[in-house]
Amino acid sequence: MIVLGIESTAHTFGVGIVDDSKKRANKVLANVKDSYTTKKGGMIPSKAADHHAEICGKVLRGALEKAGQAKGKEELDMKDVDVIAYSQSPGIGHCLRIGAMAARSLAVKHNKPIVGVNHCIAHLEIGRLVTKAKNPVLLYLSGANTQVIAYEGKKYRIFGETLDMGIGNFLDSFARDLGLGFPGGPVVEKMAKKVKGSDKYVELPYSVKGMDMNFGGMLTNLKQKIKSGKFKKEDLCFSVQETAFAMMVEVAERALAHCDKSELLLGGGVACNKRLQEMCDKMCKARGAKMYVPANEFLVDNAGMIAWLGLLQHKAGDKLKIEKADIKPYIRTDEIEVKWRKD
Ligand code: AMP
Ligand code: MG
Repeated sequence: MIVLGIESTAHTFGVGIVDDSKKRANKVLANVKDSYTTKKGGMIPSKAADHHAEICGKVLRGALEKAGQAKGKEELDMKDVDVIAYSQSPGIGHCLRIGAMAARSLAVKHNKPIVGVNHCIAHLEIGRLVTKAKNPVLLYLSGANTQVIAYEGKKYRIFGETLDMGIGNFLDSFARDLGLGFPGGPVVEKMAKKVKGSDKYVELPYSVKGMDMNFGGMLTNLKQKIKSGKFKKEDLCFSVQETAFAMMVEVAERALAHCDKSELLLGGGVACNKRLQEMCDKMCKARGAKMYVPANEFLVDNAGMIAWLGLLQHKAGDKLKIEKADIKPYIRTDEIEVKWRKD
């Protein structure tokens, strides 16, 4: 079966195509995307939506070409696509609407079934596909989302999350205040690497409340430190990583213990960070668990994961009427009925 998926929850518009035939080791035929960015970071939702509307045709053609080449043809024909999937929840309304509209248009024009997908669960399912993790706890760290998710009692449940901003947005704001440009996460990582020795650590507010965390207090504290001019940029970058990542590792570890699971899967753009991966790996090894990290292409927002979850849902009998193919910007993962898992 071949499924074409569309991602458009936030800054990224993507088209992914997957094929689950048994003889194919690499199930993802195409994973093409184009992201809306601004020099200073930040996002105006209507502008991001304009970007998505503008490039959706180009991204779609690119994906059909890529998928065709993977099958030894010039281009994949829409006739060969069995199902259209799209990110239905959660996300920014303006952006989601463009993806849903593109999906409905394709479904109607080519007379294909349509399926709506939850973006957070898609991160988890693509991770299971490409890493072979079986029943992991997902540490999902992206621009807007910071959540610890696991499958329990037939649902994907959120065991811990940020109470204010997402870790990625936090790192981007901090980097902007330091004058490091956008996106900030990768630059903060590079600066932090310059620091040798933990004696350069600058004390910052560490805020874990039960299974949840927040970053607003740390950001305010950092603004004051930057303003004082008393601290070296690289020392602050190093300290931010050590503090914020330790908070998330703590929550992830408690989720592993609580759910009695032994696999930690990483997802989201911030999970590309090597220091974060190192800290997670250390924690996992200490408790006899295993860490799984998908390739960066599948960590960041992508449409391959939307196509893959669409395929799982369609095969489990998920049917969506075209007039019900709407968007659900605020839905939570535990509101989704998980029909595709048998455990
Ligand atoms: P996403 O929303 O999942 O596409 O992730 C985007 C976020 O990931 C942005 O906030 C980036 O700053 C952040 N990011 C990307 N690469 C890294 C990295 N190496 N270290 C930390 N954050 C990163
Ligand atoms: Mg994401």
